[in-house]
Amino acid sequence: MTLLFIGGSTIFDVIIVGARCAGASLAIFLGRLGYKVLLLDKSSKMGPTLSTHIIGEVDIYKSLNINYKIENCGSPILERFRVDVEGHIFESDTVVSNRVISIRRELLDSYLLQEVSKLPNIKVNLGFNVNDIIENSKGEIIGVTGKKKGCTSNQSFYGNIIVGADGRNSLISRKVSAKTTLVNKNEELGVVYAYIKGINPMPVGTVEWYWTPNGVVIGNPIDQNMHCFAIMVPPSKFKEICNPNGFIQQLYQLRMLVPRIDNLKIAGKIKGIKKVNSNFKKPYGKRWVLVGDSSAFLHPIAGVGIDNAVCTAEQLALQLDLYLKEKQSWEESMSIYQNLRDNRILPQFYSSVSTQNFQKTNINSVQHELTSMLCTFPSLAKKIALHSNQIMTMLQEGG
Ligand SMILES: Cc1cc2nc3c(=O)[nH]c(=O)nc-3n(C[C@H](O)[C@H](O)[C@H](O)COP(=O)(O)OP(=O)(O)OC[C@H]3O[C@@H](n4cnc5c(N)ncnc54)[C@H](O)[C@@H]3O)c2cc1C
Repeated sequence: MTLLFIGGSTIFDVIIVGARCAGASLAIFLGRLGYKVLLLDKSSKMGPTLSTHIIGEVDIYKSLNINYKIENCGSPILERFRVDVEGHIFESDTVVSNRVISIRRELLDSYLLQEVSKLPNIKVNLGFNVNDIIENSKGEIIGVTGKKKGCTSNQSFYGNIIVGADGRNSLISRKVSAKTTLVNKNEELGVVYAYIKGINPMPVGTVEWYWTPNGVVIGNPIDQNMHCFAIMVPPSKFKEICNPNGFIQQLYQLRMLVPRIDNLKIAGKIKGIKKVNSNFKKPYGKRWVLVGDSSAFLHPIAGVGIDNAVCTAEQLALQLDLYLKEKQSWEESMSIYQNLRDNRILPQFYSSVSTQNFQKTNINSVQHELTSMLCTFPSLAKKIALHSNQIMTMLQEGG
């Protein structure tokens, strides 16, 4: 297993490129197992990143030892889920997970790095931009090169395994020519997100989902009395929305939100992606492996990328451990990892495609009237509840 290099450079068990939720979590799990890990990130500080930040898992954050910090970050627990279908409201307790919360990534990613810093066998190098991989004569990846911010010369690091946790535009996946195994080229909606001040919160922490004729708007309260809003529109409307005026105007179209607006302001920058390409890659090859968005990237409408990154990092750490302890071959470990990833994320991929497809269909005036009746006649609303079994079966069968 040990590699020898002329020049005697340190050889890490694992080099991880990317130190946010996938990379930092993997470093923690491997570091706790005693491995010598190098964690690199081109950012010097974990600042804001494109994400609405909703997380639904609990146990994984407990095992990362950051759950207490998450629950005390100032964001309310999101107990309710409210769907506004062009003015018709459906609302209930959140059922998909035991605890839903939205946490700014500056906080979440820093909590992870604080845990990393407790492990002396993890070396962290922030502000280091990896620009290439190093291969041996057999074409196996044995290290990475890059530049530290402010330095002009390249520096190289060597490791037994190189992990690309470098996000949806992963350099590592490009350099190793990771094969794309599934892609949705017909993604309907681009995404723009911003933090908003000046919206009075719902009395109980609530995720608000608005189906509008233009697309989807998702909003939720975060810390500092702010809300995080993501507006999802077709690429043709992206430019209109991806600026402060356009974004604010779009929020003013939400009739049921407007009464809660009081001196609305955008805090920080508006960020967006015009064209999203959900995709899956073959996540491993000789001595390299991908985790997080670099391995499988879903449309943000799925709202599960953070949990997926963290949970698959744990599964990867387990499989790497079995390989490094020579209890399993590389192929065995990595194919198990890939299966676990696919079992978790593939259904979410298909579900996000189908959710986006709903955007194409508009509700006609007759359907509007009938929906109003279903929402406002108490006996009809109760009948819906009483017939929920049949309605669910009918909807799942595509009726
Ligand atoms: C608009 C939007 C909304 C979203 N909303 C949600 C949500 O509500 N809930 C949810 O769970 N998920 C959401 N997601 C998805 C979630 O943000 C991602 O799945 C998650 O950030 C993936 O984590 P990661 O660690 O794999 O990658 P990233 O968070 O992208 O981190 C990659 C890291 O790699 C570093 N890096 C990249 N290239 C290099 C290089 N060459 N050298 C060194 N370092 C490098 C970057 O600096 C970065 O820090 C959303 C995504 C978008 C775009």
